[in-house]
Amino acid sequence: MKLYGKESLVEILEDAAGENRLSHAVLLTGEKGSGRRTTAKFIAKQMMCGAVPCESCPVCSKIDADSHPDVIFVLQKCGGKYNIENMREIVSKGAAVKPNDGDVKVYIFENADEMSAAVQDTLLKNIEEPEPWNRFIFLCENSGSLLSTIRSRVTEYRIPECSPEECCECLVNEFSVDRAKARELSQTMSGNIGKCLEVLNGGDETKLMETARHAAAGIAKKSGYMVCAALAEQSGRKEYAGVLEYLAGILRDALAVRAGGELCSCGKAEARNIAKVYDEAAVTAMLDKIFEVNSVGSLNLNLALCSAYLTSGIII
Ligand SMILES: [Zn+2]
Repeated sequence: MKLYGKESLVEILEDAAGENRLSHAVLLTGEKGSGRRTTAKFIAKQMMCGAVPCESCPVCSKIDADSHPDVIFVLQKCGGKYNIENMREIVSKGAAVKPNDGDVKVYIFENADEMSAAVQDTLLKNIEEPEPWNRFIFLCENSGSLLSTIRSRVTEYRIPECSPEECCECLVNEFSVDRAKARELSQTMSGNIGKCLEVLNGGDETKLMETARHAAAGIAKKSGYMVCAALAEQSGRKEYAGVLEYLAGILRDALAVRAGGELCSCGKAEARNIAKVYDEAAVTAMLDKIFEVNSVGSLNLNLALCSAYLTSGIII
Protein backbone atom coordinates (compact mmCIF):
# COMPACT_ATOMS: atom_id res chain seq x y z
CA MET A 1 0.00 0.00 0.00
CA LYS A 2 1.18 3.51 -0.79
CA LEU A 3 2.40 5.50 2.23
CA TYR A 4 0.29 8.66 2.09
CA GLY A 5 1.91 11.85 3.36
CA LYS A 6 5.15 10.03 4.12
CA GLU A 7 7.12 10.79 0.94
CA SER A 8 9.91 12.51 2.90
CA LEU A 9 10.40 9.48 5.17
CA VAL A 10 10.15 7.00 2.27
CA GLU A 11 12.91 8.89 0.49
CA ILE A 12 15.16 8.75 3.57
CA LEU A 13 14.47 5.02 4.02
CA GLU A 14 15.06 4.22 0.35
CA ASP A 15 18.36 6.13 0.40
CA ALA A 16 19.46 4.33 3.57
CA ALA A 17 18.52 0.88 2.25
CA GLY A 18 20.01 1.64 -1.17
CA GLU A 19 23.33 2.44 0.45
CA ASN A 20 23.10 -0.53 2.83
CA ARG A 21 22.76 1.79 5.82
CA LEU A 22 19.39 0.50 7.04
CA SER A 23 19.98 -0.52 10.66
CA HIS A 24 19.11 -4.00 11.94
CA ALA A 25 17.10 -2.25 14.67
CA VAL A 26 14.72 0.56 13.79
CA LEU A 27 12.43 2.67 15.97
CA LEU A 28 9.40 4.41 14.46
CA THR A 29 7.79 7.08 16.61
CA GLY A 30 4.47 8.73 15.92
CA GLU A 31 1.01 9.06 17.41
CA LYS A 32 -1.53 6.26 17.28
CA GLY A 33 -3.07 6.05 13.82
CA SER A 34 -0.21 7.89 12.13
CA GLY A 35 0.81 4.87 10.05
CA ARG A 36 3.53 3.29 12.17
CA ARG A 37 2.42 -0.26 11.35
CA THR A 38 2.14 0.40 7.61
CA THR A 39 5.58 2.02 7.65
CA ALA A 40 7.02 -0.96 9.56
CA LYS A 41 5.67 -3.27 6.89
CA PHE A 42 7.26 -1.07 4.23
CA ILE A 43 10.63 -1.40 6.00
CA ALA A 44 10.13 -5.18 6.32
CA LYS A 45 9.64 -5.26 2.53
CA GLN A 46 12.84 -3.27 2.12
CA MET A 47 14.67 -5.81 4.26
CA MET A 48 13.24 -8.75 2.34
CA CYS A 49 12.50 -7.57 -1.21
CA GLY A 50 14.69 -4.56 -1.97
CA ALA A 51 15.52 -0.95 -1.10
CA VAL A 52 12.58 0.11 -3.29
CA PRO A 53 10.11 -2.73 -2.70
CA CYS A 54 8.46 -3.99 -5.87
CA GLU A 55 5.03 -4.26 -4.14
CA SER A 56 4.04 -7.19 -6.34
CA CYS A 57 6.26 -10.20 -5.59
CA PRO A 58 5.09 -13.01 -3.27
CA VAL A 59 7.18 -11.56 -0.41
CA CYS A 60 5.60 -8.09 -0.67
CA SER A 61 2.12 -9.58 -1.08
CA LYS A 62 2.51 -11.80 1.97
CA ILE A 63 3.77 -8.89 4.08
CA ASP A 64 0.79 -6.80 2.93
CA ALA A 65 -1.53 -9.62 3.95
CA ASP A 66 0.17 -10.10 7.35
CA SER A 67 0.90 -13.68 6.37
CA HIS A 68 4.67 -13.78 5.88
CA PRO A 69 6.09 -16.44 8.24
CA ASP A 70 9.26 -14.43 8.84
CA VAL A 71 7.56 -11.14 9.70
CA ILE A 72 6.58 -11.58 13.33
CA PHE A 73 4.18 -9.24 15.11
CA VAL A 74 5.39 -9.89 18.64
CA LEU A 75 2.56 -8.21 20.57
CA GLN A 76 0.02 -10.34 18.75
CA LYS A 77 2.06 -13.48 19.47
CA CYS A 78 2.17 -12.49 23.15
CA GLY A 79 -1.63 -12.47 23.18
CA GLY A 80 -1.94 -8.69 23.28
CA LYS A 81 0.23 -8.08 26.34
CA TYR A 82 4.02 -8.23 26.55
CA ASN A 83 5.43 -10.52 29.23
CA ILE A 84 8.81 -12.05 29.92
CA GLU A 85 7.89 -15.72 29.37
CA ASN A 86 6.38 -15.13 25.93
CA MET A 87 9.16 -12.78 25.03
CA ARG A 88 11.82 -15.40 25.83
CA GLU A 89 9.96 -18.01 23.84
CA ILE A 90 9.24 -15.84 20.81
CA VAL A 91 12.32 -13.70 20.58
CA SER A 92 15.19 -15.27 22.49
CA LYS A 93 14.58 -18.89 21.47
CA GLY A 94 12.96 -18.08 18.13
CA ALA A 95 15.74 -15.70 17.17
CA ALA A 96 18.24 -18.56 17.11
CA VAL A 97 16.21 -20.32 14.44
CA LYS A 98 16.94 -19.39 10.82
CA PRO A 99 14.22 -17.83 8.65
CA ASN A 100 11.65 -20.05 6.92
CA ASP A 101 11.55 -18.42 3.53
CA GLY A 102 14.30 -15.94 2.84
CA ASP A 103 17.44 -14.44 4.32
CA VAL A 104 15.98 -12.40 7.17
CA LYS A 105 13.43 -12.49 9.96
CA VAL A 106 11.75 -9.26 11.01
CA TYR A 107 10.39 -8.83 14.53
CA ILE A 108 7.88 -5.97 14.83
CA PHE A 109 7.08 -4.64 18.32
CA GLU A 110 3.84 -2.64 18.23
CA ASN A 111 3.10 -0.33 21.18
CA ALA A 112 6.66 -0.75 22.38
CA ASP A 113 5.80 1.86 25.05
CA GLU A 114 3.92 -0.95 26.80
CA MET A 115 7.01 -3.12 27.31
CA SER A 116 8.20 -3.05 30.92
CA ALA A 117 11.89 -2.52 31.63
CA ALA A 118 12.20 -6.23 32.51
CA VAL A 119 10.66 -7.23 29.18
CA GLN A 120 12.96 -4.87 27.31
CA ASP A 121 15.90 -6.40 29.15
CA THR A 122 15.13 -9.82 27.69
CA LEU A 123 15.64 -8.30 24.24
CA LEU A 124 18.85 -6.54 24.87
CA LYS A 125 21.26 -9.33 24.01
CA ASN A 126 19.42 -10.05 20.76
CA ILE A 127 19.75 -6.46 19.70
CA GLU A 128 23.34 -6.05 20.86
CA GLU A 129 24.64 -9.22 19.26
CA PRO A 130 22.01 -10.15 16.68
CA GLU A 131 22.12 -13.31 14.64
CA PRO A 132 22.91 -12.18 11.08
CA TRP A 133 19.33 -12.89 9.93
CA ASN A 134 17.44 -10.95 12.63
CA ARG A 135 15.89 -7.48 12.25
CA PHE A 136 13.89 -5.52 14.84
CA ILE A 137 11.36 -2.73 14.35
CA PHE A 138 9.92 -0.94 17.40
CA LEU A 139 6.81 1.25 17.18
CA CYS A 140 5.85 3.73 19.86
CA GLU A 141 4.47 7.19 20.53
CA ASN A 142 7.43 8.44 22.45
CA SER A 143 10.91 6.94 22.59
CA GLY A 144 11.27 8.19 26.20
CA SER A 145 9.57 5.01 27.42
CA LEU A 146 12.34 2.80 26.05
CA LEU A 147 15.47 1.92 28.02
CA SER A 148 18.48 3.97 27.05
CA THR A 149 20.33 0.71 26.36
CA ILE A 150 17.75 -0.10 23.66
CA ARG A 151 17.48 3.47 22.40
CA SER A 152 21.21 3.70 21.87
CA ARG A 153 21.11 0.69 19.53
CA VAL A 154 18.19 1.66 17.29
CA THR A 155 17.93 4.14 14.47
CA GLU A 156 14.91 6.34 15.15
CA TYR A 157 12.64 7.74 12.45
CA ARG A 158 9.73 10.05 13.21
CA ILE A 159 6.56 9.37 11.20
CA PRO A 160 5.75 12.61 9.34
CA GLU A 161 2.33 14.16 9.89
CA CYS A 162 -0.11 13.54 7.09
CA SER A 163 -2.10 16.56 5.86
CA PRO A 164 -5.92 16.33 5.83
CA GLU A 165 -5.74 16.48 2.01
CA GLU A 166 -3.39 13.48 1.79
CA CYS A 167 -5.46 11.65 4.39
CA CYS A 168 -8.58 12.28 2.28
CA GLU A 169 -6.84 10.90 -0.84
CA CYS A 170 -5.86 7.75 1.07
CA LEU A 171 -9.42 7.16 2.31
CA VAL A 172 -10.87 7.66 -1.18
CA ASN A 173 -8.27 5.64 -3.11
CA GLU A 174 -7.47 2.81 -0.72
CA PHE A 175 -10.68 2.40 1.26
CA SER A 176 -13.30 3.59 -1.26
CA VAL A 177 -14.73 6.17 1.14
CA ASP A 178 -17.08 8.72 -0.39
CA ARG A 179 -15.06 11.88 -1.10
CA ALA A 180 -17.24 14.35 0.82
CA LYS A 181 -17.28 12.08 3.87
CA ALA A 182 -13.51 11.47 3.56
CA ARG A 183 -12.83 15.21 3.40
CA GLU A 184 -14.91 15.96 6.48
CA LEU A 185 -13.42 13.11 8.49
CA SER A 186 -9.85 13.98 7.50
CA GLN A 187 -10.39 17.55 8.74
CA THR A 188 -11.90 16.38 12.03
CA MET A 189 -9.05 13.93 12.64
CA SER A 190 -6.35 16.39 11.49
CA GLY A 191 -5.10 13.97 8.85
CA ASN A 192 -4.74 10.92 11.13
CA ILE A 193 -5.65 8.06 8.79
CA GLY A 194 -5.82 5.43 11.53
CA LYS A 195 -8.29 7.43 13.59
CA CYS A 196 -10.44 8.05 10.48
CA LEU A 197 -10.54 4.30 9.83
CA GLU A 198 -11.47 3.63 13.45
CA VAL A 199 -14.40 6.02 13.17
CA LEU A 200 -15.47 4.43 9.87
CA ASN A 201 -15.38 1.03 11.57
CA GLY A 202 -17.30 2.29 14.60
CA GLY A 203 -14.31 1.80 16.94
CA ASP A 204 -13.35 3.38 20.25
CA GLU A 205 -12.60 6.73 18.68
CA THR A 206 -16.33 7.15 17.94
CA LYS A 207 -17.12 6.77 21.63
CA LEU A 208 -14.61 9.43 22.60
CA MET A 209 -16.10 11.84 20.06
CA GLU A 210 -19.60 11.18 21.34
CA THR A 211 -18.49 11.84 24.90
CA ALA A 212 -16.87 15.10 23.83
CA ARG A 213 -20.13 16.08 22.13
CA HIS A 214 -22.08 15.36 25.33
CA ALA A 215 -19.67 17.49 27.33
CA ALA A 216 -19.93 20.27 24.73
CA ALA A 217 -23.73 20.11 24.89
CA GLY A 218 -23.40 20.47 28.67
CA ILE A 219 -21.25 23.57 28.22
CA ALA A 220 -23.82 25.11 25.85
CA LYS A 221 -26.55 24.46 28.42
CA LYS A 222 -24.36 25.77 31.24
CA SER A 223 -24.87 22.45 33.00
CA GLY A 224 -21.85 21.53 35.07
CA TYR A 225 -23.55 18.25 35.90
CA MET A 226 -23.75 17.24 32.21
CA VAL A 227 -20.09 18.06 31.63
CA CYS A 228 -18.99 16.13 34.72
CA ALA A 229 -21.20 13.16 33.88
CA ALA A 230 -19.84 12.97 30.33
CA LEU A 231 -16.22 13.13 31.48
CA ALA A 232 -16.84 10.57 34.24
CA GLU A 233 -17.55 7.94 31.57
CA GLN A 234 -13.82 7.74 30.90
CA SER A 235 -11.94 5.22 32.97
CA GLY A 236 -8.51 5.51 31.42
CA ARG A 237 -6.13 8.43 31.27
CA LYS A 238 -5.55 8.08 27.52
CA GLU A 239 -9.29 8.06 26.80
CA TYR A 240 -9.76 11.06 29.06
CA ALA A 241 -7.05 12.99 27.22
CA GLY A 242 -8.64 11.94 23.91
CA VAL A 243 -12.04 13.30 24.93
CA LEU A 244 -10.49 16.59 26.03
CA GLU A 245 -8.76 16.88 22.67
CA TYR A 246 -12.03 16.44 20.81
CA LEU A 247 -13.72 18.88 23.20
CA ALA A 248 -10.98 21.42 22.46
CA GLY A 249 -11.69 20.89 18.74
CA ILE A 250 -15.37 21.70 19.30
CA LEU A 251 -14.46 24.84 21.24
CA ARG A 252 -12.11 25.93 18.46
CA ASP A 253 -15.07 25.49 16.12
CA ALA A 254 -17.14 27.71 18.43
CA LEU A 255 -14.49 30.39 17.92
CA ALA A 256 -14.62 29.75 14.16
CA VAL A 257 -18.41 30.23 14.20
CA ARG A 258 -17.93 33.69 15.69
CA ALA A 259 -15.12 34.51 13.26
CA GLY A 260 -17.03 33.16 10.25
CA GLY A 261 -14.50 30.38 9.58
CA GLU A 262 -14.96 26.81 8.42
CA LEU A 263 -15.95 24.21 11.05
CA CYS A 264 -14.09 20.92 11.20
CA SER A 265 -14.68 19.35 14.62
CA CYS A 266 -16.75 16.29 15.50
CA GLY A 267 -19.43 18.49 17.11
CA LYS A 268 -20.38 21.31 14.74
CA ALA A 269 -23.94 21.68 16.07
CA GLU A 270 -22.66 21.84 19.65
CA ALA A 271 -20.04 24.40 18.58
CA ARG A 272 -22.77 26.62 17.12
CA ASN A 273 -24.75 26.38 20.36
CA ILE A 274 -21.72 27.28 22.45
CA ALA A 275 -21.05 30.27 20.20
CA LYS A 276 -24.59 31.52 20.90
CA VAL A 277 -24.08 31.45 24.66
CA TYR A 278 -20.44 32.46 25.19
CA ASP A 279 -18.29 35.23 23.75
CA GLU A 280 -14.80 34.77 22.32
CA ALA A 281 -12.99 35.58 25.57
CA ALA A 282 -15.02 32.99 27.48
CA VAL A 283 -14.39 30.25 24.90
CA THR A 284 -10.66 31.06 24.81
CA ALA A 285 -10.57 30.81 28.61
CA MET A 286 -12.23 27.36 28.39
CA LEU A 287 -9.60 26.21 25.91
CA ASP A 288 -6.84 27.41 28.25
CA LYS A 289 -8.43 25.46 31.07
CA ILE A 290 -8.61 22.28 28.99
CA PHE A 291 -4.95 22.52 28.02
CA GLU A 292 -4.05 23.12 31.65
CA VAL A 293 -6.00 20.08 32.85
CA ASN A 294 -4.68 17.90 30.03
CA SER A 295 -1.11 18.63 31.04
CA VAL A 296 -1.88 18.16 34.75
CA GLY A 297 -3.91 15.05 33.95
CA SER A 298 -0.86 13.44 32.47
CA LEU A 299 0.83 13.87 35.86
CA ASN A 300 -1.28 11.08 37.37
CA LEU A 301 -3.85 13.22 39.14
CA ASN A 302 -7.23 11.79 40.04
CA LEU A 303 -9.44 12.11 36.94
CA ALA A 304 -12.58 12.95 38.95
CA LEU A 305 -10.74 15.87 40.52
CA CYS A 306 -9.62 16.99 37.08
CA SER A 307 -13.24 16.97 35.90
CA ALA A 308 -14.46 18.94 38.91
CA TYR A 309 -11.72 21.52 38.44
CA LEU A 310 -12.34 21.73 34.72
CA THR A 311 -16.10 22.07 35.10
CA SER A 312 -15.82 24.79 37.73
CA GLY A 313 -13.57 26.69 35.37
CA ILE A 314 -15.52 26.45 32.14
CA ILE A 315 -19.13 26.81 33.22
CA ILE A 316 -19.49 30.50 33.86
ZN1 LIG B 1 8.60 -7.34 -3.67
